[in-house]
Amino acid sequence: MRTQARRLDGIPPTVFTQMSALAARTGALNLGQGFPDEDGPASVVQAARRALAEGRNQYAPGPGVPELRAAISRHQQRHYGLEPDPEREVVVTTGATEGIAAALLALVDPGDEVAVLEPYYDSYLAMIQMAGGVRRPVTLRAPDFRLDADALRAAVTPRTKVLLLNTPHNPTGTVLTRAELEAVAQVAVEHDLVVITDEVYEHLVYPGHEHVPLATLPGMWERTLTLSSVGKSWSFTGWKVGWATGPAELVGALLSAKQWLTFTSGSPLQPAVAEALDAEAQWPGELCRSLAGRRDLLVAGLADAGLSAYTPEGTYFALTDISALGWPDGRAFCEALPERAGVVAIPAQAFYDDVEEGRHLVRWAFCKTAEVIGEGVRRLAAADLRA
Ligand code: PMP
Ligand code: GLN
Repeated sequence: MRTQARRLDGIPPTVFTQMSALAARTGALNLGQGFPDEDGPASVVQAARRALAEGRNQYAPGPGVPELRAAISRHQQRHYGLEPDPEREVVVTTGATEGIAAALLALVDPGDEVAVLEPYYDSYLAMIQMAGGVRRPVTLRAPDFRLDADALRAAVTPRTKVLLLNTPHNPTGTVLTRAELEAVAQVAVEHDLVVITDEVYEHLVYPGHEHVPLATLPGMWERTLTLSSVGKSWSFTGWKVGWATGPAELVGALLSAKQWLTFTSGSPLQPAVAEALDAEAQWPGELCRSLAGRRDLLVAGLADAGLSAYTPEGTYFALTDISALGWPDGRAFCEALPERAGVVAIPAQAFYDDVEEGRHLVRWAFCKTAEVIGEGVRRLAAADLRA
């Protein structure tokens, strides 16, 4: 009997679960999956406790609790000068992951094409396919992983409905420049496309670089759905509270799909996230300053182990090319790594349609404490990592 529906054909189990299970099984240090090993602000945890105790335990309104929607609107105003109407232009989602799913289910019909930056976050692959869409990857290529505007134009056809963007970009660490975003905007306007932009790393951008939300470019607010979440910026990845902002028509479409996925997102964490956005507004900046040091520690340590990394401009990930060590395949390297060195990393080929383009790339996370990163790179330097 065929049990699994065809919409799941060829979608592998998420690499993050596979590699974190490998870390748990072998006791290796987990420099793979992107979650910090220190929680976000204590005042926000306290606010969550308060919300639970004060009886914020029944269904939230469909678009999210009013104080969080208002706080999200203020966040967009404070950082970017955008003023989404909390009533019609903001929806709370169960992490950005649900935002991605709801946006694609809401906007993509079977056969519609979605142009997407490659390497891509793995849920994009799954959700484009589950929506019946067709991926058109636009590859960011080593060594600098810039957006090639000609490649973007070439990926757009008369069947293209959506551009799916991610900046700051996981896994390359690229932060798209204003000029690159202007090229995206030009293509979107020319072909009358909607853009879904995943900006969960919006606050994790290192000196010399700037995060520019696509929605702030002329002519783009009306065709852009912007997604983010509390997970990365405030170190609460397990809370799964995210949000979508954009014009009422696009946010309303997303909500139409979201109401059948979760109905509403969990109640008690929402007032606490409102507190994070308002009262702990400076927290992500402090996190970012601390991450910059950990980035340098990881990149230098990887180089000492013979793994030269591409220095990321944003996010908390760095990519390395492992072919210099004689390995043709990053997955084989990552599977051997716990035994060789007691460390786990992520094979980046999971994020490519064109597996050859990513076969030799491995992703390392530096959202771990300096002690953990230091121990990780010591283990790597002491190990024999040659194929
Ligand atoms: N988009 C990207 C690019 C990510 O790296 C992640 C991982 N957190 C997500 C979306 C999912 O975010 P959330 O945990 O808020 O669902
Ligand atoms: N976004 C995180 C990463 O890229 C993990 C999210 C997940 O585990 N799905 O590592």
